[in-house]
This record gives sequence, structure tokens and C-alpha cells, in this order.
Amino acid sequence: MLQNKVIFVTGASRGIGQAIATCLAAAGAQLVIHGRSEESLKETKSKIISEGGLEPFSVLYDVRDQAEMKRAFQAIKRAFGRLDGLVNNAGIMKESLLGMLKTDDLQEMLDINVTAVLQHMQIASRLMMKQKSGSIVNVSSIIGVRGIEGSAAYSASKAAVIGATLSASKEWAGVGIRVNAVAPGFIETDLTSHYRAEKKEDILKSVKMNRFGRADEVADVILFLLSGLSSYVTGQVIGVDGGMVI
Ligand code: NAP
Repeated sequence: MLQNKVIFVTGASRGIGQAIATCLAAAGAQLVIHGRSEESLKETKSKIISEGGLEPFSVLYDVRDQAEMKRAFQAIKRAFGRLDGLVNNAGIMKESLLGMLKTDDLQEMLDINVTAVLQHMQIASRLMMKQKSGSIVNVSSIIGVRGIEGSAAYSASKAAVIGATLSASKEWAGVGIRVNAVAPGFIETDLTSHYRAEKKEDILKSVKMNRFGRADEVADVILFLLSGLSSYVTGQVIGVDGGMVI
């Protein structure tokens, strides 16, 4: 489905990002995997190769470092001369009741979950505009769509991702760039591993399919959004939440 397409996935070291990278590589894509260190990308790299994917190209930086981000895009341009897809996956969640929210935590979530996402889209679009094609998928969250107690800042950051997705999809539809978002529900990764068993049971009651999601189930939807199967789909926010109601 993605034979030889050059696809850039941020936060590919673990969790949903690792599943996205391995899924897209299995579909034939040339992956550019992003992480903060070579060490953190080792597992993703070996999974891609052991499953028969093309050797991935690594870019290393903290997404808050705009200079490094620009250098990474220059390296992609030099190596491949094009970019067919971008998945803005890197993100963090710090929970806190609004009354207790620390300004530093709020700023960190906005910097990583919002500012970096917009900047990646902006730079990627310059390459994509030249080729008059491209697909961008931003990873939002059901919490950005519905909100939840104890996560106002995270919710605001993920709602901002949706706003950016909708606006960019309108700006770039005419130049052949599609922009969509996915809004996962509860997916078992490091991000959700701190929940106590009782809290997880509580959350599970809100999931109509009566189970938590897997990272590869998010990856499959992203594969669809990057592939030609979604060639007339833009400006959409697709829930991947097992019928979660919050
Ligand atoms: P995760 O396992 O915690 O992985 C987060 C990824 O983001 C890691 O690759 C991490 O890199 C990277 N990252 C975080 N801060 C970064 C920074 N400053 N610079 C560079 N990379 C950074 O989380 P996940 O569950 O896979 O989540 C992936 C995305 O899905 C996030 O945007 C999250 O908000 C969203 N999401 C998750 C769920 C869920 O239930 N898990 C639900 C809805 C949405 P390092 O390895 O270097 O830390």
C-alpha cells in the first residue's frame, strides 16, 4: 500500500509510534524514524528490518528544538528528495486537576503536543507542495474531542491538534496535501501504564468494546490515511477508541 513512499514518523521509539513505524514499513514504505537518541530507536529499527522492511533512516532530536527539526528535514531532502507522509505522533500527557496545574507542565505539553506538531506540518508542507502531493496524520486523542477530569491541559493540547488539522486541511487541499487526525481512546502503552488497576477497571466500563486498544490498531488506521485508499479523505478526525464514551 505504501511501496517506496517516504514517510516520517515522530516519536517512533516506543508505544504507538513504534507500531506505526513497523506497520508502515511492512506496507513497503521507506521510513524516517524520529527519536531522541540512536539507542532509543534500536528496537524499532530491528523490528522493521526483521519484518522485511527497508532500512529506516533515523533523525534524532527533542521536538522542542526547532533548529534540529529543520536540520532533520534538510537531511530527509538530501537523502530522498521528497516526503510523501508525516505522522505527528510524539506527545506527552501530564495529568493534573486544573486547580493544581503547574505552569511548567502546561507549557511542556503545549510545546511538545502543539507547537512542535504545527512546526513539523509547516516544514513538511514545503516539501510536499513542490511535489503537489502528501498526507499528514496528526495523533490527537479522544480526550481532545470530549475532555475528561484531571486532564484539562492535555485535552486543550489535543484539541489544538484537531484545530490545526482542520485548518491545514483547508489551506492545503488545493495543492494536493491531505491532512487528517486520529483520536485514539485508551491504548496500552507507557503513557497509560501508570494507571492503577481500579482506575483501569473504571475506564474500561466506558469502552463499549469492553477492552483497551492496541497500538497496532491505531497504526492500521494511519496506514489507511497515508495510503491511496483514502485519496479523497481530508480534514477528518477518526476515532480509534472501541466505542469509548467519555
Ligand atoms: P509513549 O509510549 O509515552 O511514547 C511517546 C513518544 O513520544 C516516545 O517516542 C517519546 O520519545 C516521544 N516524545 C515525547 N516527548 C518528546 C520530545 N520532547 N521530543 C521527542 N520525542 C518525544 O506514548 P504513546 O501512548 O505511544 O503516545 C503516542 C501519541 O499518542 C501521543 O501523542 C499521545 O498523546 C497519543 N495518544 C495516546 C493514547 C494512549 O492511550 N496511549 C491515547 C490517545 C492519544 P522518548 O522515547 O524519547 O521519550
